[in-house]
Amino acid sequence: MRNKMNEILIHSKRCFINHQFIEATIHILNRKIFKIYVGEKKMDGISFSDYGNLIVMPGIIDAHVHINEPGREDWEGFDTATKAAAIGGVTTLIEMPLNASPVTTNVDAFILKQNASRDKLHVNCGFYGGIIPTNTDDIEELIKSGVFGIKGFLTHSGIDEFPNVSQENLEKIAPILKKYDIPLLLHCELTDVEVPEVKNQKNYQEYLHSRPQHWETNAIELALNVQEKHDIKVHIVHLSASEGIERINKRKSLTDKLTVETCPHYLYFNAEEIPDASPIYKCAPPIREQKNNDLLWESLLNDGFNFLSSDHSPAPPKRKQLESGDFFKAWGGIAGLQFTLPILWTEGKKRGLELEKLIPLLTENPAKFLGLENQKGKLQEGFDADITIWNDSQEFEIVEDSIYHKHKATPYLNEVVVGKVIHTFVNGVQVVENSELKNLRKGELLLKTNCLSHESGNPKR
Ligand SMILES: [Zn+2]
Repeated sequence: MRNKMNEILIHSKRCFINHQFIEATIHILNRKIFKIYVGEKKMDGISFSDYGNLIVMPGIIDAHVHINEPGREDWEGFDTATKAAAIGGVTTLIEMPLNASPVTTNVDAFILKQNASRDKLHVNCGFYGGIIPTNTDDIEELIKSGVFGIKGFLTHSGIDEFPNVSQENLEKIAPILKKYDIPLLLHCELTDVEVPEVKNQKNYQEYLHSRPQHWETNAIELALNVQEKHDIKVHIVHLSASEGIERINKRKSLTDKLTVETCPHYLYFNAEEIPDASPIYKCAPPIREQKNNDLLWESLLNDGFNFLSSDHSPAPPKRKQLESGDFFKAWGGIAGLQFTLPILWTEGKKRGLELEKLIPLLTENPAKFLGLENQKGKLQEGFDADITIWNDSQEFEIVEDSIYHKHKATPYLNEVVVGKVIHTFVNGVQVVENSELKNLRKGELLLKTNCLSHESGNPKR
């Protein structure tokens, strides 16, 4: 007899299937999408949920999140971050090798992190490993233990135990990355002294000018050199400088091994509107002027970005220097993985972004980047039943009480946005019902190595 707990029918007039909205019924059985029926289909003995005109789409995959546990649990943690994710319709996230302590630069640290995440995952969670100048010999073992990519910085990361790497360091590990077909993720800023002297540390314009566009474009040039020379997968995280777009597009026309992401905060805020003494907006690279951000949007609308991610990177209010207002002393990082969908939709709508374009940037495309394209990112028979159900016309204000991250400090506070996540399913289980958490700890720890064997028809899970 079938276990009714694990079997449900979800119906909506607007299911996002094969890149279009159709009326369909999705039959979930034992964690998977068992069948998809066009139109409305009820079956005896199986619970049927009618979601009317709500959008039913694949769960959001956020490929760039900092959770900081173990070691910096006072900044963020698996429990709070994955609760925020679930509420925001994010069903899978991939966690960065910093700012946990220890940083994830060898297998021992990776195991510590996996252990720290146990019984705290409310959505699926995988991990990246990190490259620093001293761990090039650890990279192969890290890859074999299941990381989804290797992340490096080309400028100071903000965390002393995660120093930046040189081109030489990257070239040393390139053959290993190629052997396993694992992407190299790069924070592209290359520091030089061609910056104005700082007079007022509370002035946003001075902070902005302290991290100029050419830092990004010089680093991108280095990244592209490594990519081309070794024919490896290189991913540019959080592009902010529009001056880098042309060069990236040129290389992308020649290879599918170069990918690039940007984040909601670069698309939603403009430097002109950021008040002085408000380091809640501090991130690196910085949020630039409207003219620049218009070009990021133009690129997005012309398919210039492979996917979008939150770069959720919270810190305690004290570290964010919220009292002192000092942009230069403050931790750089924006907290907000819960709000990726409404932030992008609110601004995108004004700019002619269609849902048919937005949804793949949050689902199918990051799945492809992570090598999960045969199990996640689409509503398709046989795929994992990770599903986000939302109202694309419901307006709401982001208030403190509704924030699930550890710290409520986010520049999105008090914004009135449109697009509310109502229900979330993770691995076939409803974890959010009517915008409230329901079943906890239904997320799964994802290892790239397991996903690969899964793809080859030999599931370990
Ligand atoms: Zn980051």
